[in-house]
Amino acid sequence: MQPGPLRNAYLEALGIDRWVARNSPPEVQVEPAAIPARLEVRAPAPAPIVRLPATPAADWGTLRERVAACTACDLCKTRTQTVFGVGSTSADWLVIGEAPGADEDRQGEPFVGRAGQLLNAMLLAIGLPRETVFIANILKCRPPGNRDPKPEEVARCLPYLQAQIALLKPKIMLAVGRIAAQNLLATDLPLARLRGKLHRFGEADTPLVITYHPAYLLRTPSDKRKAWEDLKFARATWQKSIGGN
Ligand code: SF4
Repeated sequence: MQPGPLRNAYLEALGIDRWVARNSPPEVQVEPAAIPARLEVRAPAPAPIVRLPATPAADWGTLRERVAACTACDLCKTRTQTVFGVGSTSADWLVIGEAPGADEDRQGEPFVGRAGQLLNAMLLAIGLPRETVFIANILKCRPPGNRDPKPEEVARCLPYLQAQIALLKPKIMLAVGRIAAQNLLATDLPLARLRGKLHRFGEADTPLVITYHPAYLLRTPSDKRKAWEDLKFARATWQKSIGGN
């Protein structure tokens, strides 16, 4: 849990104003003990459990080599390089985005550039330096012009993410953006219907929380406060899953 002043500094870094009503009582931080009620309120019915076909196990090095050499879809023809993912291979948190953009394609790392900086600030706001989580995308190659991934591209590429999940065994997954959320949950529901619920993913029933993509938040800063609520929800869910308070 971040101490109040430090958390407030992160909120300022996120560009989130702290609204305090005149004569209001002191701000109360959300404690994990408050989570069951929040879950009941915000997720009255359990979200569907997504089960995808099992993928062959591989070690991280072998998997990285397979991705780097992959020609399973046409995106291999236009990529500069594959973008495997980055972070700690013993992380509790797996952050999943959509696909590499131009900067990521050039640098070979997910979430760089302005959106990446905002993601870093969002993670730091809940006490997670970037290097302590693992960050990956649904697609490992950049779609030309940053268009949405095609279903057949997702179908070809998703087994790599499944293999990453199998190796990492995350305690919590945070999907950022509509494309990541819809593909992980196999749904076409809008993001607004997917946020604020605790989903479960795969055979391990890994907790999955949905929030906005940082690139969207750069365009729509008024939604940063909602993203902050999502992050607090995810953090509390994680703390609960590891038995913390
Ligand atoms: S997007 Fe995925 S499936 Fe397509 S070529 Fe790249 S690594 Fe292979």
